[in-house]
Amino acid sequence: LTAESHRIPLSDGNSIPLLGLGTYADPQKTPKGSCLEAVKIAIDAGYRHIDGAFVYFNEHEVGQAIREKIAEGKIKREDIFYCGKLWNTCHPPELVRPTLEKTLKILQLDYVDLYIIELPMAFKPGEALYPKDENGKFIYHETDLCATWEAMEACKDAGLAKSIGVSNFNRRQLEMIMNKPGLKYKPVSNQVECHPYFTQPKLLEFCRQHDIVIVGYSPLGTSRDESWVNVSSPPLMKDPVLNAIGKKYNKTAAQVALRFSIQRGVVVIPKSFNPQRIRENFQIFDFSLTEKEMKEIEALNKNVRYVELLM
Ligand code: NAP
Repeated sequence: LTAESHRIPLSDGNSIPLLGLGTYADPQKTPKGSCLEAVKIAIDAGYRHIDGAFVYFNEHEVGQAIREKIAEGKIKREDIFYCGKLWNTCHPPELVRPTLEKTLKILQLDYVDLYIIELPMAFKPGEALYPKDENGKFIYHETDLCATWEAMEACKDAGLAKSIGVSNFNRRQLEMIMNKPGLKYKPVSNQVECHPYFTQPKLLEFCRQHDIVIVGYSPLGTSRDESWVNVSSPPLMKDPVLNAIGKKYNKTAAQVALRFSIQRGVVVIPKSFNPQRIRENFQIFDFSLTEKEMKEIEALNKNVRYVELLM
């Protein structure tokens, strides 16, 4: 079984692989080239979906890995599903296309498969990606999300993004886009935190009703980096229920958590730059959880986010 045969349809006629490789790693603490190696190993292991962003500062490595694998004859461009993200400082509509073009230049690719608005709020445009005032407070920017969305639609029409979506949007923000007069394309997906401790039942149901795929980030409970993660919530990978169920199938807690999500129709994008764990996270298509086990895992929901996004 390969991830290729495990895609789910998107509302615009395209489809998305249920499993992708997350690529966020703190650039200060991660050796250069780690992302390049990880993406190449992932592609060899069967991954076809890669989740990245300009603000991860390693998109050049992702692009290089994809291009090397194409040159090797291992894959074709159309086999790969790359998701890129529009950062907060680039919400004004006139900045959207140039920002995506910059990402494409970094990747050295002609298009991304999915381009998403990373967060629903905007920062002041400019060189600083995290603009702050003299008191250390973020400088926000008034923009109209609907106008940003129209610029996203234009990127799809121009063929620079095959599909367009959003991230970290709540129901109200999704409705604002979907009820926009003259809407051309609705968001195909919403990338949000989703895992056994934060199962998002209400948002998941709303998105199901509207044909919006949920892409679950931090599906393993994050790297627990205290600089941006709420570590007062216990480590997901140590959970006794996930570990006990794993034992039954000869699987790890990580594999059980990922399987739980894909079995609910949630796309997962676990990050690993470790060859063994990259391969481990891919081995989730050869077992399935019973209805009772799914319920047991659903009951682990604590309704607490690891990623509080206090900005
Ligand atoms: P995650 O995927 O839940 O967890 C990553 C951590 O788990 C890393 O420390 C990784 O270490 C470790 N790990 C990986 N596989 C493992 C396994 N089998 N067993 C035990 N530990 C394992 O966390 P995340 O990076 O926060 O989320 C995943 C991706 O979602 C990101 O990389 C990014 O692409 C995306 N994301 C998006 C947003 C957004 O706002 N849209 C926010 C957060 C994340 P090793 O690398 O050493 O294996």
